[in-house]
Order: sequence, then structure tokens, then C-alpha cells
Amino acid sequence: MSRATSITEAPLPDGLVWTKRHILGIEGWSAAEITAVLDLADLYVEQNRRADKRSTELRGRTVMNLFFEDSTRTKTSFELAGKRLGGDVLSMSVGTSSVKKGETLLDTAMTLNAMKPDFLVVRHAQSGAPKLLADKVNCSVINAGDGMHEHPTQALLDALSIRRRKGRLEGLTVAICGDILHSRVARSNIHLLGTMGAQVRVVGPPTLLPSSIDRMGVDVFTDMDRGLKDVDIVMMLRLQSERMNGKFVPSPREYFRFHGLTFGRLAVAKPDALIMHPGPMNRGVEIDSEVADDIGRSLILDQVEFGVAVRMACLRLLASTQQAA
Ligand code: ASP
Repeated sequence: MSRATSITEAPLPDGLVWTKRHILGIEGWSAAEITAVLDLADLYVEQNRRADKRSTELRGRTVMNLFFEDSTRTKTSFELAGKRLGGDVLSMSVGTSSVKKGETLLDTAMTLNAMKPDFLVVRHAQSGAPKLLADKVNCSVINAGDGMHEHPTQALLDALSIRRRKGRLEGLTVAICGDILHSRVARSNIHLLGTMGAQVRVVGPPTLLPSSIDRMGVDVFTDMDRGLKDVDIVMMLRLQSERMNGKFVPSPREYFRFHGLTFGRLAVAKPDALIMHPGPMNRGVEIDSEVADDIGRSLILDQVEFGVAVRMACLRLLASTQQAA
């Protein structure tokens, strides 16, 4: 069966035209492109809630997960996304300890490329690694997190989680809190939320705020009580110790005291403010367990659920450009 035949069995929703071949970062995306992913993902949320979760949009296509950094939820989420669309999915965890990263990355990617995958889903500790691959291979590349640069599907799933609960993104005030400096999640969210008309604040200790952050069009706070005042969404970030060389915070306990999210701190936010965290969480460091587990306020499990739907939407949209090629 030709690719075109399997893809046209499940056409894109009316009027939806997609032109990107790769998903490398949210920077530069239009509001229409973001909305296209979210609208399609909404349909996949419904599919994922059915007893029979399978469809056939990716029949005959191969998704290769290539993770040079550890991952639990992102890798699993891409695996499920590919399988639920009827594709073949293969996941590789690649050790980098004994070889130069640049060589390994390209050598591995070229080897895999020769096996004719249709999608390479790449996570790497170096910013820009997925772009490097995208320039060399002839399949679609999806960035599943590159260093401190971007994590586009995380921002898309965050947006879907907010939109489904609040009904919109435009006009909301979102505080992204904690280790902004090392966070690709923060960068992708800042691009996405700004494009969609939300007001973005970043809140963290001065040591964990990039020096040029105000150039990204955000309001900057170093004090949680001021930064959380009247916000609609509180997005907590993990303290990313593995990316720190040197000491950025006095101790986890001290960090929690000044920058951890507790119900007490949340009291200054809007009464219906929602809490998010991309995971994995450091309970008692950046977020109090009681807050994280409050099912009325916390979107954390929604984020995991909708992550699968968003990744299905991304694969599906990229597949539509492969068909045209
Ligand atoms: N899972 C997210 C990432 O890979 C957030 C984190 O690790 O803290 O960037």
C-alpha cells in the first residue's frame, strides 16, 4: 500500500494545512500553527479515552525514539502516540559516556537514517542537536528536549492542558517559577504563551534567571509572593541539578523555604489558579506534596494524559507533509 493511501484514510480536519517538516522548537511558530496542533490534539484526547484507542494514520510508518538523555514520560508518551496511530515504534537509549557526543550523534543518526525511519524523535543534552540531525537526515525530526534550548511538545501539551481547563490562553497570566536558567520547558512555554496572547512572568532566585530573560518579553520577579499575585496559572519547574556546575542555591531546604510552592504562597494567586509541573517533580524542593496532589487545582496528570494526544497530533501533521513530498 502506498503511503498516500494509508494517510488519506484519515484526512486532516477541513481547512487544516500544515507545512512544517520538522518540529525543532516553538520559536517562530504562528498562532495558527499552535492552534492547529491543539485542535487536532483535542480529537486525539477523545480517541485515547475510548476502549479501542487505535487508528491507522501512521500505518506502515516507523517512529524511532533516540534519547541521549534519560526520560520516562516523554519517551513513553511518544511510544504510545506512534502506536495508537498504527505506526511501528522503536526506542533506543544511547549512552554517551565513552565517545565524543558530536560524532556519536551524527554516526548514530546516519545509521538509523539508512534504515528508513519516517520520524526521528531526539532528546540530547546539547542545544541544537535535533537541528543538526534534521539537516542531515531525510525523515522528520522532532525535538524531545535539547539541552537548555527547547522542548516544543512539552509547551504544546501544557497549552492544551490550560486551554481545556480555562477555555483559552489569551489574556491569562502565567507565572513560570524556579530554575528558569536551565529550563528548555520555560523557553518553549515563553515563546508559545507569548504568541498566544498570554502574559508571562518568570519567578526565581537571581542565580537561576538568565541575564537576558527580559528580552523574551516576560515580566521578571525574584520574590514568589509578588510574582504569584493574581496569576491564573502557576507553572513550577524542577531544580535541574544535573545541568548545574557550581552552586546555584544554598540548599534544597533553603530553596523550598523561599521558592517552593505551598498553599500559603498560592493564596496570593487568583482563587481559581491552577498548578502545573512538567515532571519529574522534586517534592519538598520546588513543590509541596499537598499542592501537587490537589486534584482540584493541579493539572499535573492532565499534562501527562494530554501529552500523548499532542504527540499524536504532531506525528499526524508531520506525516501530512511527508505525503506531499
Ligand atoms: N521533563 C522536562 C525536560 O526534559 C523537565 C525536567 O526534566 O525537569 O526538560
